[in-house]
Amino acid sequence: MRKPFVAGNWKMNTSRGEAIKLAEAIKKQVGELDDVEVGLCPPFVYLDAVAEAIRGSNIRLGAQNLYTEPAGAFTGEVSGPMLKDIGCQYVIVGHSERRHVLGEPDELVANKVRAAFAAGLLPILCVGETRQEREDKHTEEVVRRHIFSGFSGLDREQAAQVVIAYEPVWAIGTGLTATPGEAQQVHRFIRELLTEMFDADLAESVRIQYGGSVKPKNAYELMAQKDIDGALVGGASLKVDSFVQIVGEGARAAEGSC
Ligand code: PEP
Repeated sequence: MRKPFVAGNWKMNTSRGEAIKLAEAIKKQVGELDDVEVGLCPPFVYLDAVAEAIRGSNIRLGAQNLYTEPAGAFTGEVSGPMLKDIGCQYVIVGHSERRHVLGEPDELVANKVRAAFAAGLLPILCVGETRQEREDKHTEEVVRRHIFSGFSGLDREQAAQVVIAYEPVWAIGTGLTATPGEAQQVHRFIRELLTEMFDADLAESVRIQYGGSVKPKNAYELMAQKDIDGALVGGASLKVDSFVQIVGEGARAAEGSC
């Protein structure tokens, strides 16, 4: 049984005060939840404050990025051991904004996945195609490249702990969402890739979130798909009500699949 995981990616948003208020309100409403894992990924500078705000709850703390090296002369970067030190359990790696806006290549993303494990963090590895790639029918080719590269050098035990987020780039922050059927098809394909790389047991155990304009109104249908195990939520994670509703829909979807 895969426990759904709903994580909020706050991106470069909120003030310190807003981050604390948001985290406290989310903790109050879903902090004790056990049938869905809930994660918050605030900006680096507010991780400490959010860690404090969610202390004592079941909510996980995640960062949005990390550097490949544990320490040294890398001005402006933040390392895995630093994130671990302030209470992170997860770190987003290979988000499309980092791949496409900041130009991170596959190899760097793969190094970051390995750096996360080296620091005792679990990576949320984002994969997904651009609109042009989908129109050109290259979705499977791109997702295959992201998965094979992102998992390179991992042993089976590590691979089983990676959380994958399938995030079609054309659906992120655009209000466009993959239909539940389209998303399910890619999630199934990712399990086939994991079977090819490792084995069917591992493929069935890895959690694959969907991300891309997830809102309360579409969350249930997406998460109720057989191979969709929660969501990585951007815009809708910045409002208490919408995020809490999405978490609730994750719980409802999990109930239905029992
Ligand atoms: C994201 O940032 O990972 C994301 C999916 O954003 P949004 O929900 O706003 O599309």
